Amino acid sequence: MLKVNEHYLKLQASYLFSDIAKRVAAFQAKNPEREVIKLGIGDVTNPLPAACIQAFHTAVDEMATTSGFRGYGPEQGYDFLRSAIAVNDFQARGAEVHADEIFVSDGAKCDTGNIQELFAADARIAIPDPVYPVYLDTNVMAGRTGSFKDGRFEGIVYLESTQANNYVPDLPTEPVDLIYLCFPNNPTGSTITKEQLKVWVDFARDSKALILFDAAYEAFIRDPKLPHSIYEIEGAREVAIEFRSYSKSAGFTGTRCAYTVVPKECMAYDAGGNKQPLHPLWNRRHCTKFNGVSYPVQRAAEAVYSPEGKAQCTALIDGYLGNAKIIGKAMAELGYSYVGGDNAPYIWIQGNRDSWEFFDMLLDKAGVVCTPGAGFGKCGQGYIRLSAFNSEANVVKAMELIRQALA
Ligand SMILES: *Cc1c(COP(=O)(O)O)cnc(C)c1O
Repeated sequence: MLKVNEHYLKLQASYLFSDIAKRVAAFQAKNPEREVIKLGIGDVTNPLPAACIQAFHTAVDEMATTSGFRGYGPEQGYDFLRSAIAVNDFQARGAEVHADEIFVSDGAKCDTGNIQELFAADARIAIPDPVYPVYLDTNVMAGRTGSFKDGRFEGIVYLESTQANNYVPDLPTEPVDLIYLCFPNNPTGSTITKEQLKVWVDFARDSKALILFDAAYEAFIRDPKLPHSIYEIEGAREVAIEFRSYSKSAGFTGTRCAYTVVPKECMAYDAGGNKQPLHPLWNRRHCTKFNGVSYPVQRAAEAVYSPEGKAQCTALIDGYLGNAKIIGKAMAELGYSYVGGDNAPYIWIQGNRDSWEFFDMLLDKAGVVCTPGAGFGKCGQGYIRLSAFNSEANVVKAMELIRQALA
């Protein structure tokens, strides 16, 4: 008799986005004449930058020739992309990262989900609340938690992000080994300063822990004082792995390209207490279980770093940030307090009522779809997330509909 991995049975079936889809479908069936504007899901809406499309096309044409054809590439990514990443995303900001510390992949979701394989089954895990669900669910699957009780998994140290700490969690009061952080944050849109991030780096160094830093929204940072990479913080190379993605920065959600940085100095410990470098372990996992991102996609990603590509990506993100401003202004005028939207595509709004109640009200009265904060964790109860990923015209219309509905 084949037995299942019992840990999978502990997972709360993730009803969030299917619940939302069901409620929206029911609303549309009942009100076929009403328009619905979606500001819920975290997916981009604008097409790929022209520079990426051009590089993509050129690479596809190369594949059609005998001399330009490429079969399996290096699992870690082509040198042209890894070098462009090291120079543009890190060295240009004064952060020490080398091309051979970069692992190109098909997504930061996969990487943030897979990285936990490198660590012991009894590693103590600290996870923010509210949170991008991947970090938590992959640790549940791996058996690092007990069962789900009162909205939380036993055995996880939850890092609460609330109004009281301005949505940057305080250091845990109990020992932890592995710490997930995401800034600019999904779902709250909050950011972390260099000083605040330094506190976490020092903590990780003192406690022989490791930080998994998800910087998927780095490209939305406009405040010049905010760190784009954890490696801008002194001492981070020994205690941090960073995840980046072209999904939100260049519209690659459907094209798929991302990367993970594992510095050579990054360590964990074996049973004998000896230091074990993580770079060769991640390299082993990556080469065993992954066969590289396609050549045309890596060429399209490389084009992000051309002068035209940089200008086009900036314009793309400026558009979304403009939408975020429109949303924030409208919500403030309606008397709601919120965070995010300045250096992130998400606006996290305090609804002063149950998350789902607020969701239903916005849908019924305004025809606007949001994401109920409770779907991201216990601390999300009472909040909703609005996303700036839509056209400006739709965002303006949505805010007008919300104004009329709440007036
Ligand atoms: C969108 C997103 C990512 C990117 O995932 P990909 O798999 O690269 O598309 C990573 N982390 C967070 C928190 C995200 O919201």
